Amino acid sequence: MIEKLKQNEELWDLFTKKEEYNSALSDQYDRFPYYLSGQRSVFDPRVSRFLVENGLRPEYPGGKKFAVCLTHDIDMVYPEKLYPIIGTAKAFVKGNLTDAIKTPFSRINKRCNPCWNFREIMELEAKYNAKSSFYFLALRPGEKDFNYEIEDLEAELKFISSHGWEVGLHGGHESYKSFEDMIEKKQRLEKVLGKQIIGYRNHFLRFKVPDTWELLSKANFKYDTTFGYADCAGFRNGMCHPFRPYNINIGKQIDIIELPLIVMDRTLLRSYMRLDVKKAWELIKNLIEKVEQYNGVITILWHNNTCIEGESLKYYEKFLKYVSGKKAWIASGEEVYNWWSTNIEPRH
Ligand SMILES: [Zn+2]
Repeated sequence: MIEKLKQNEELWDLFTKKEEYNSALSDQYDRFPYYLSGQRSVFDPRVSRFLVENGLRPEYPGGKKFAVCLTHDIDMVYPEKLYPIIGTAKAFVKGNLTDAIKTPFSRINKRCNPCWNFREIMELEAKYNAKSSFYFLALRPGEKDFNYEIEDLEAELKFISSHGWEVGLHGGHESYKSFEDMIEKKQRLEKVLGKQIIGYRNHFLRFKVPDTWELLSKANFKYDTTFGYADCAGFRNGMCHPFRPYNINIGKQIDIIELPLIVMDRTLLRSYMRLDVKKAWELIKNLIEKVEQYNGVITILWHNNTCIEGESLKYYEKFLKYVSGKKAWIASGEEVYNWWSTNIEPRH
């Protein structure tokens, strides 16, 4: 199928993101934004449509027509103002006393902190027979956006993982371009979790085509789900299906699967597209419809600390209710990866 796509030069260039290879411009986070793209049809999964017209026939568990991949980036666990106090206390207190400090703190968090809500998110998803992926940062104090020590979350990570939800790595500001940084963080997270990590998303969606994919593959990740524009929802390379990226510099497929990110919560509202809640919802419904039409996978990023109109999970639940009414297979990144790599990819 990849051979057929190669013969269509325009779609091949879009699929491989040729325009990103030598782009002279980037935004302040070294990202290639949609506003620099020559592609003006980001809401149209053109490459996926071509593949479907040429025989791609994905099927999903339970005969579901399309899939929804649920993901959460965990940027913050503690409210910003509190952590310095705890951090200082911890530096002075050793041994068992550290736990004595942490335990009451976590109780306070659960009550007053919308960031400490992994279990609440899981309960909500379970209501819709769904699981999701949580991508955790593994930053050290002093690194940009440091908010928590991953070792302090051991019990939470094990709770998430033992119930069948996924724990993946949320790479730091430098990880997307540094193998050493990426592997150090992966190993640190794996040590806390006690098992291998297969899924990845970089913080701030920082990503370099094709280098980040190559680094991730070398670091033994099985899938990435960073690849979407921060400044616009939609299909960055015209794909609404998982795919194996292609490195045009060396003329080879990269040994990793990309679950393209279609919708990030922050893209829609204040930070980038500046839609109001009603228009954002219309756009989400429109994107779901397209993915459904081509039997694709719509990957959504919902931050654990997102608050819309004072509500942290109300709009997320609205989304869950809607897709479950459409009879989608709702799954974590790991579940989508496993299903795609064992059932769909070998046939195409
Ligand atoms: Zn992040």
